[in-house]
Amino acid sequence: MEYLKIQCLDLTSCLGGSKDEIVEVSLLELPILQFVYVILIFKQTFTFMLKVDYLIVGQGMAGTLLAYFLLKRNKEIFIIDQFNPSSASMVGAGLFNPITGSRNVKTWMADVIFPFAEKAYLNIELFLNQSFYHKINLIKMPVGGQSQDNMRNRTDIQEIAHYLVDVEHIPFNVNGEINTSDSIEITGTGYIDMSALIIAFRKKMLLEKRLAESEFAVNELKFEEDLIFWKDIRATKIIFCEGYKAIQNHYFSWLPFVPAKGELFTIHSKELKLDKILNKGIFVLPLGDDKYRVGSTYTWSDLDETPTVGGEKELCEKLRELIPFTFRILDHKAGIRPTVKDRKPLLGLHPVKRNIGIFNGLGTKGSTLAPYFANHFVEYLEENKALERTVDIRRFYALH
Ligand SMILES: Cc1cc2nc3c(=O)[nH]c(=O)nc-3n(C[C@H](O)[C@H](O)[C@H](O)COP(=O)(O)OP(=O)(O)OC[C@H]3O[C@@H](n4cnc5c(N)ncnc54)[C@H](O)[C@@H]3O)c2cc1C
Repeated sequence: MEYLKIQCLDLTSCLGGSKDEIVEVSLLELPILQFVYVILIFKQTFTFMLKVDYLIVGQGMAGTLLAYFLLKRNKEIFIIDQFNPSSASMVGAGLFNPITGSRNVKTWMADVIFPFAEKAYLNIELFLNQSFYHKINLIKMPVGGQSQDNMRNRTDIQEIAHYLVDVEHIPFNVNGEINTSDSIEITGTGYIDMSALIIAFRKKMLLEKRLAESEFAVNELKFEEDLIFWKDIRATKIIFCEGYKAIQNHYFSWLPFVPAKGELFTIHSKELKLDKILNKGIFVLPLGDDKYRVGSTYTWSDLDETPTVGGEKELCEKLRELIPFTFRILDHKAGIRPTVKDRKPLLGLHPVKRNIGIFNGLGTKGSTLAPYFANHFVEYLEENKALERTVDIRRFYALH
């Protein structure tokens, strides 16, 4: 039989050699190989390449809100997300409160961020035809030596007065049992049902073929001139919204993340009958049907997304101090907050690879920070508007 020596090239899988290797094939096999080769060239030439403006990695609150504001501008996007039921966005309570901390101060940028978030969520509710935004007043009970008198005598009371329900009128006795005489009632508070929002947005993106349920590995990225390639997708930019998992991504692992684990419960209590959020070290958030979300703990040493016995003990003890009723734990969850050393979000482009960006660092306040800063980032990306220095990752470029 006559043989021909040929180089393997793109037919390595048929011929069994490496690309540069020369192998012998019989003349009888030649037409088959020619046919396979033609098919291969045809496939390479006509393979469908999806062209998008933005690839987004991660669909927690950061990725979802970023995608939403890009879609609003008719940008083409594609999201890659490995669904994680323990992600901060799936686990977090989504509570928002403009008056925080033991000193009851106005939270950072509350007057700008809170109205923006409200408007954005109401629009997203229309976009997804589902409700997620729940406004409920919050009763903040003093922890330690604080008292309502301290509140009234504060010189900066004007700063926060419009968030307080009549400073002079002190709420007393939640359903006749929980004494809240030294508390303040805050308005403009409530919660976003973050897990429902994530799931609804995900469904829509899957239907529209804009989302792949997959784990993204940075070594799968290819660069050609100013373009980025991932599998059969070509993008102008890629934005990482990976939450605390950014610490595993070498493009951004140099940023000073200080991830914080948190645990919370959903409980059932028939007697509690609470229609406002209670806050005293922990929060008790009414969800309806005698169910309440209770949280949260903070630990920095353990980055494991599983609930712990210690977390359960801490929450149970604090809850028993607060409510004199029996309760049943329906679920106990844990997640990792993407917290940053200076507690501010992280927005911007990689110092060297300018088509790679990050939207992260939502920390403990993803529900209110995500809408405003997603839109802010989109204005930077699309209109070249300057990023606020406090959130721009340039503040950490020296660490790169
Ligand atoms: C216990 C707890 C309680 C909280 N309570 C509140 C609260 O009351 N109010 C509030 O505002 N905030 C709260 N938070 C904080 C809030 O949840 C976070 O700020 C927010 O969810 C962070 O969103 P994110 O999108 O940045 O990250 P994440 O929610 O972690 O989302 C990241 C997503 O990216 C995916 N991903 C990561 N890497 C990859 C990869 N390589 N490939 C594919 N997919 C990837 C993950 O699977 C995930 O889906 C709480 C958090 C916790 C843990």
